[in-house]
Parts: sequence; C-alpha cells; structure tokens
Amino acid sequence: MSKYVLLVHYNELGLKGRNRPSFERQLIKNIKRALELVEPAPQVNRTCGRILVFTHSYEQGLSLFELLAKIPGVARVSLGEKVQRSLDAINEAALRALERSEPFVSFRVEARRANTDFPLDSMALNREIGAYLFENTVDKTVKMKDFDACVRVEIITSNAYVYGLSKSAVGGLPVGTAGTVVCLLSSGMDSPVAAWQMIRRGARVVGLHFSGAPETADTSSYQVREIAAVLEPYGGLADLHCVAFGNYQRAIALEVPEKLRIIMYRRLMFAVAEALARRLGAKALVTGESLGQVASQTLDNIAAVDAITGMPVFRPLIGTDKQVIINQAKQLGTFEICARTTDDCCTLFMPRNPETHAKLGEVEALWQGLPHATWVEEILREI
Ligand code: ATP
Ligand code: MG
Repeated sequence: MSKYVLLVHYNELGLKGRNRPSFERQLIKNIKRALELVEPAPQVNRTCGRILVFTHSYEQGLSLFELLAKIPGVARVSLGEKVQRSLDAINEAALRALERSEPFVSFRVEARRANTDFPLDSMALNREIGAYLFENTVDKTVKMKDFDACVRVEIITSNAYVYGLSKSAVGGLPVGTAGTVVCLLSSGMDSPVAAWQMIRRGARVVGLHFSGAPETADTSSYQVREIAAVLEPYGGLADLHCVAFGNYQRAIALEVPEKLRIIMYRRLMFAVAEALARRLGAKALVTGESLGQVASQTLDNIAAVDAITGMPVFRPLIGTDKQVIINQAKQLGTFEICARTTDDCCTLFMPRNPETHAKLGEVEALWQGLPHATWVEEILREI
C-alpha cells in the first residue's frame, strides 16, 4: 500500500450515536462511488473515526482533493503520508510536508495521539517536531497564531499520519442517510440551490421538471440536465423526470381567470410531484421558493398551493435573500447555466398581473372544476 493518504474527517457523523456505523458505511460507499473511475484505483479504508484514501502518488492525492471535499458528510480533507510512529520517521515526513507548503515564513506543529501508549504526549511531540523543523529549514519562524503553514501529526494505533495540506469540506451528511424527496426543479436560479441543500443534508433527491413543450422548445429540459450534471460530484440527483407541461397550461388558461393561473399550474405540479413521490417511496417535496421573492411566493399564495398536498413541503430557501442564493449558485457552479434566460413553462400562458393574495376558497372551487386527477394519471404515464 502506498504511503500517500487523503484523510477524510467527518465531525458531524461522530455525533450520531447508534446510527454512526451505518452513516460511516454510507459515506464510504459514496466515496468509493465518487472514485470509481479513477485510475489507478485508490484504496479506501477506515480507522478510528477517519476514512483513509490511499493514493498512488502525492500528485494523485492532489488531483482528488477537491473531489473528496465536495462529498456530503466530509467535514475536512487532508493530504499527507502514513509513516511508522517513530520520532525519526515523523520528523522526516513533517519536513517534507512543510517543504510542500512553500512559500511560507512562519509555521506551527499540531500533534495529537489517539493512543496514549506512545511515549511522547502532544505537547512534547509539538516541541520535538517543531525543533527538528526549525533546525532543518532556513529563515523560518515558529508562530502559534497567524502562521502561514501548519504541519499536523496524528498518531493512530501503530502509525503516524503527517500532513500539511488540509481544508474544510462541504460538511453535511452522506447522501442516502435521510430518505428520498422529490424536488420541483425549474431551470431558474433557486431550485437547484434548494436541491443541493437537501442533498447536503443526506437526502436522495429526485428532480422533477415541467417544460413548456410542446408549446415551446424543450430547451429548459436540456438546461435542467446540465444542472443535474453540475450536482453530480456533490452526490447528485438520484433521478430526473421531465414533464411536457405546455398542453396542461393551455387547458388551465382556458378555464381559470388569468390572475389565478400560476397558482393552478403550481397546484398541478404539486399534485404530480406528490403522486410521483408516493410511487417512489419519497416522503416530502422540495421547492426553491423564498418568501415574497415573486408574486407566487406570498404567504397567501403558498398556502393556496400547499393545501393540495398531504406531504411535507420543504422550502430550504424560504428565509434566504436573493443575493445569498446567487452567491451559493456561483459556489455550486449552477449560476452560469441558470443565468441564461430559458423559459421553463410557457410564458405565453403567464398572466400580466398575477394574484398576490389568493383566497383558498376560490382556488379550491376552481380546482374542483378541473379534471386534475385524470391529468395527473396521464402525466405520470408519460413522464
Ligand atoms: P426558480 O429560481 O427555482 O425557478 P423562481 O424564483 O422562478 O424559482 P417560481 O417561478 O415562483 O420562482 O417557482 C417557485 C418554485 O416552484 C421553484 O423554485 C421550483 O421549485 C418550482 N417550479 C417553478 N417552475 C417549475 C418548473 N417549470 N418545473 C419544476 N418546478 C418548477
Ligand atoms: Mg423560475
């Protein structure tokens, strides 16, 4: 086995008590899946609250660093070497780690031992390694605060892990530990961020998109597929379903007063989402709504749409400002795709002055006049 190793730390998982072993198994499975196509194949092991990914070279470790940092459940990733737990071997590895941290002026050492049978305690280790590094470098200083480089040493069972490169990762929980949800995924800025937040909390997220086809081109479906590809390294969508919604919009537009159309479109979307969720064993719906952002997202309108479903509807962005959502989309990598103006549902049927305070009674009465059950059945057949 190679000595180069990526240490995967997973803090929050450590808090999960009796669930911990199954969370760890899921995280290892997800890591192995993310590394599936990597050649030569790294080896994934587990030891004392860490997952270790042994790579074939330091360079391969560097190339996998970002990939691992995106996997939900990973709190921190570090790259270094596994050596024998003798002070000489640790010192030499610490010097190599420090040299890889160039350029730097100041440094510090942080040593920890999981086994108390190692003769030096953490303080003594810090002192010994620090002194060795100081003697073997030129014009470098030791600093406890505001240092440029840090060499970390962890003594675990009969080995020592020595690393200089370390960064905090995405955090959250491993995908597959929180059940399945159906996310209404438009090609807009918000819902991909909402989907990602649920993925990060460990949910399997099934995407459901409604395009304006056949009334419009199917561009938005392709755009949503691009979004799905961006989400892939973060754990990804479990699946993506697209509905050609144009004809249903037309039918609703013919029956419903202009002001209430959007609410009816949204109700039908929710009804389809719920039916799909029940078919898949998913237990909640997710949207990218943010309170007051657009006309359809007032409290009254949200309530008028929500009443259609008996399932919990999660809106992870409900209290988030647009600028914060945009920043998250930039970080995630969906911003450029979503900034392209693509009409998802057909704008032809969009009202000029949508209702902002829909009355539930009126909405329910109109809804009862629509053949919604037949539509839902039909859509699920065609999905
Ligand atoms: P987004 O940026 O996610 O498109 P938005 O600001 O455009 O949201 P709305 O158009 O009111 O706001 O949509 C609210 C939510 O309804 C979306 O976040 C999404 O979850 C769902 N939704 C809207 N249109 C579609 C669609 N064509 N397909 C699937 N879901 C949709
Ligand atoms: Mg939208």
